[in-house]
Amino acid sequence: MVRSVDTESVIGRGTLYVVATPIGNLSDITLRALDVLKTVDVIAAEDTRVTVRLLDRHGIAGKLVAVHEHNERRAAGRIIGMLAEGKSVAVVSDAGTPGIADPGAQVVAAARDAGYAVVPVPGPNAAAALLSVSGFGTSRFLFCGFLPSRAAERRRALAELAAQTATLVFYEAPHRVIECVTDICAAMGGDRDIVFGRELTKMHETVHRCRLDAAVAWLQTDENHQRGEFVLAVQGAPEMQQPDEADADATLGILLDELPLKQAVALAVRLTGGSRNVLYQRALALKEKSPDKGSAPA
Ligand code: SAM
Repeated sequence: MVRSVDTESVIGRGTLYVVATPIGNLSDITLRALDVLKTVDVIAAEDTRVTVRLLDRHGIAGKLVAVHEHNERRAAGRIIGMLAEGKSVAVVSDAGTPGIADPGAQVVAAARDAGYAVVPVPGPNAAAALLSVSGFGTSRFLFCGFLPSRAAERRRALAELAAQTATLVFYEAPHRVIECVTDICAAMGGDRDIVFGRELTKMHETVHRCRLDAAVAWLQTDENHQRGEFVLAVQGAPEMQQPDEADADATLGILLDELPLKQAVALAVRLTGGSRNVLYQRALALKEKSPDKGSAPA
C-alpha cells in the first residue's frame, strides 16, 4: 500500500529541509521530496537554472531563490534570515544530497546553532549509488570526496589512504580521471580492483570493474570512457591476518632470545604476516615477564 504524506501538516515554520535531488535521471526523486518542494515557502537552490528544470518536470511552481554565492557563509546568513521570519526553507544543490561534496553543510550548522529544526529528506547520492552496485564490501567504506588537484598533495593524500581496509570512494572530474587513477594505482598497487561509475542514472551510464593495473588502459581504449561525471570505488587493503596469539608468542620468544627487541619484532612481522603494532605490544609484554629477552646486542 502506498501512503501519501500530508505534507501541510508536517511542514514546520522556521524549519530547514535538506532535500536530495536527482544525480541525472529526473525521475529519481522521492514522493516526500516533491511534497516538501511543493509546500515550503522558499526553495534555496545552488543554481536556479538547474533546479527549475526539475521543478518544471514535476509541475512545481517554485518560490526559488539563488543562494549560489561563492561565500557559503553569506548564503547561510540569508537562509537564517528567512527562517527567522518564520519561513520554511528547502535547501537543494545541483545534484544529489546537499552537503556531500556540495554546499549545504554551513547552512545546516548555522541553522542548528540558531536552534531551528533541520530535517533530512534523503534521496540520491552518487557515492551510495555506486557502492550499491560495486560488489565490494560495504560494511565499512570511506568517502574521500575529490582528491587534491595538485599532484604532490594528491599523492600524499593517497599514501595516507593506502593501508585503509575499508572500501574507498572518490569523486573525480573527467579531465583529471587518468592522472587520478594513475596515482591511485601507484599508491595502492595494481592488484586491487576499482569500479568506475560514469554518468550514473543517465543515458550513457557505465559501471566497469577491473584491476587497478588495467584501469588506465580501460579509460584510454575509448574516448567516451573519459567523458562525463565519475565516481570511483576502490577495494580496501587486504585485512592483515593476525597470527594465533600462542604462535606469535612462541615465534617472538625464540627471536627475543637471540635478537634485540626491534629486530625481533621486524622479523616476526615477516615470518607471521602479523601487524607490527600488535607484535610490538606482545614483545613488550614478553620482555616484561622475562627482562633478559630482547636484550641481546645488535
Ligand atoms: N551532492 C552530490 C552527491 O550527493 O553525490 C555530489 C556533488 S559533487 C559537486 C559532483 C560530483 O559527484 C561529480 O563531479 C561526480 O564526481 C559525482 N557525481 C555526481 N553525479 C554523478 C553521476 N550521475 N555519475 C557519476 N558521478 C556523479
